Amino acid sequence: MTEQTQATDPKKPVPSQTENKPDIIRVEGMNKWYGDFHVLKDLNLNVRQGERIVICGPSGSGKSTFIRCINRLEEHQQGKIIVDNIELTDDIRNIDTVRREVGMVFQHFNLFPHLTVLENCCLSPIWVRKTPRKAAEEAAMEYLERVKIPDQANKFPGQLSGGQQQRVAIARALCMKPKIMLFDEPTSALDPEMIKEVLDVMIELAGSGMTMICVTHEMGFAKTVADRVIFMDGGEIVEEAPPHEFFTNPQEPRTQKFLEQIL
Ligand code: ADP
Ligand code: MG
Repeated sequence: MTEQTQATDPKKPVPSQTENKPDIIRVEGMNKWYGDFHVLKDLNLNVRQGERIVICGPSGSGKSTFIRCINRLEEHQQGKIIVDNIELTDDIRNIDTVRREVGMVFQHFNLFPHLTVLENCCLSPIWVRKTPRKAAEEAAMEYLERVKIPDQANKFPGQLSGGQQQRVAIARALCMKPKIMLFDEPTSALDPEMIKEVLDVMIELAGSGMTMICVTHEMGFAKTVADRVIFMDGGEIVEEAPPHEFFTNPQEPRTQKFLEQIL
């Protein structure tokens, strides 16, 4: 719960100016249960192309479950989720298509430990997108340069710091040329001195026009890049507002209490 991104304000991306853009994600009346436990309650969310959404809320409020539903790592039982005009249903072809368009970055990096950084980055482009190996490697090197670690390409994940591993995870996701990037607490497992190097990469990505949904408690990041901040509690979207309103004038008592605890 830090203001790590304050120092990066000069890099603040231009406002996303997405008012006239079409929705790339639509969530309508979505409910999910784990057995008897009603984990997500009547969620509604429209995200326009290029928008940057930050989701925050207490542990256990359903943030991870929600974004995992958006690329069908979890399935919902009621309501609709439509991603890039494809409704997520049991149809495996739709799921495969959506997974190609939606990149995800996890708290614990989830790199393949037995593959080098370069191999981690090339695996899906080669096997899923059928990109020829040489082209995949060239593209991967460009993304590794973008996250500022081309010199680590032939190392294994275990030889890298946490911040470097997370930047590899971001590069790996970008190698699939996704239309949407989901981040689930990407800096929570990092030592404080490594948080900024990952947030800087995310800020740069936001500036490039990527549609992003980020679960994070980095409120400095939220203020710098978010178009909207969403507060979840108990499986519900309790409040949603642009960052300046969200932080200065939260409407709901649950949001106020949460902000008092973290700011
Ligand atoms: P958050 O990311 O906001 O911390 P989660 O989405 O991880 O919250 O979890 C929301 C709730 O669902 C929590 O109470 C958690 O214990 C529960 N939960 C998460 N995953 C499962 C699962 N696979 N089976 C049953 N309950 C789960
Ligand atoms: Mg979580």
